Amino acid sequence: NGPPHVVILGAGYAGFAVARGLRAAPARVTLVNPYPYHYFTTLLHEPVARPRLRERIALPLAPYLPPNVALWLGRAVAVDPGRRVVDVEDRATGAVRRLEADLLVVAVGSEPLFFGIAGLEERALTVRDLSSGPVIRSTVEQRLARYAAGDLGPEGRRIVIGGGGYTGVELAAELAEARVDLARETGVAPGAIEIFLVEAAPSLLPGFDPPLVRYVTRFLEKAGVRVITGTPIREVTPRHVVLADGRRLEAGTVIWTGGVRAHRLVEQAGFEVDRRGRALVGPDLQARGFAGVYLAGDAAAFPGEDGRPLPPTAQVALQQGEYLGRALARRLRGQPVEPFTPHLLGTVISLGRRDGVGLLRNGYRVTGHAARVLKSATLWRYLYRIGGASLVARVLGGMPLHPL
Ligand code: NAD
Repeated sequence: NGPPHVVILGAGYAGFAVARGLRAAPARVTLVNPYPYHYFTTLLHEPVARPRLRERIALPLAPYLPPNVALWLGRAVAVDPGRRVVDVEDRATGAVRRLEADLLVVAVGSEPLFFGIAGLEERALTVRDLSSGPVIRSTVEQRLARYAAGDLGPEGRRIVIGGGGYTGVELAAELAEARVDLARETGVAPGAIEIFLVEAAPSLLPGFDPPLVRYVTRFLEKAGVRVITGTPIREVTPRHVVLADGRRLEAGTVIWTGGVRAHRLVEQAGFEVDRRGRALVGPDLQARGFAGVYLAGDAAAFPGEDGRPLPPTAQVALQQGEYLGRALARRLRGQPVEPFTPHLLGTVISLGRRDGVGLLRNGYRVTGHAARVLKSATLWRYLYRIGGASLVARVLGGMPLHPL
């Protein structure tokens, strides 16, 4: 018989927080994740300019999990929320094993949304996991080297980023910063390396604070990024990006940052989902129609003040994960549970190593180095909650968190 079994799928911001929050709960917990580490999704673009950062944007999970949480390395391949049963493909053996949960938390995050644009999914790189930054960097390097060797035409020196939202902007700034190093390594003149950022909406960062959007646009243009707005990408061919106005940009490297949707598993499990595949949840993050099954982070559609789902951000995922850790611990003890209430603190966007913009809760704007420090400070605060001052000190001291 023993204590109830809680199964958590995913060790991102949400799932990892639920696991840590169940520290003192009367439960046996299994945390299912494909890798033995937790990565900081908000920093995945940084190793593009600084490859060594790769070992500083992820944390090994095991040392930071409570004793009642077992880590199972594998990928959930099927979920039956009615019976609270999950099939997990074991990472080591490839065998599929079944887990039965008394309480199930689905925190599997999101994946790129390609909108059915021809050629895009097959040809574009994305910013998705720990390997994305290094893959983007090495792809760009290889194409530039082949261009320098006369092996590729002008497309070899051009990078097109599709989607000028948060991810596209942060990535463009990172690539612009990397240009000097890339030039030195490949023998191509820095000015010859072209970076395009293409956004469908009339401006970058649609819906964001207009003065800060102007700051970001000016920053990127000064850094040499060619910003094209008001023009969606319609097709990607082996050598071109085709825009809706008929323009064809020759491009050797295409990176898609045009949006995300919830991981497919959510829809496949039979949850009631919105148009981005996120499961509809009640005030306590319980899935509509499935008792004892909860969703958190990018996999959940939780209505904000305006009735629209909260954005798929690290901040929301972390708050939902911390809430669920507390709420499930209470539920397991038979205590009443309050509804989830988000406390949105604002948005900070990095522009390379030294610049950024931030819009804080009270409408206060921050730009430049102060905003950049603010973005780093959110990481320090997060690490402090996980591993205390010693973990923050390791990061500030430039030590690897996760040897790769
Ligand atoms: P997004 O949906 O915010 O932005 C995608 C952009 O791509 C949009 O501006 C959209 O208009 C554009 N687009 C869509 N189709 C296009 C097409 N065919 N051609 C050209 N452009 C097209 O996605 P994101 O930037 O990946 O962000 C996802 C979520 O993550 C957001 O909720 C965001 O808040 C969060 N995020 C936050 C930060 C931060 O706070 N610093 C950083 C990254 C992501």
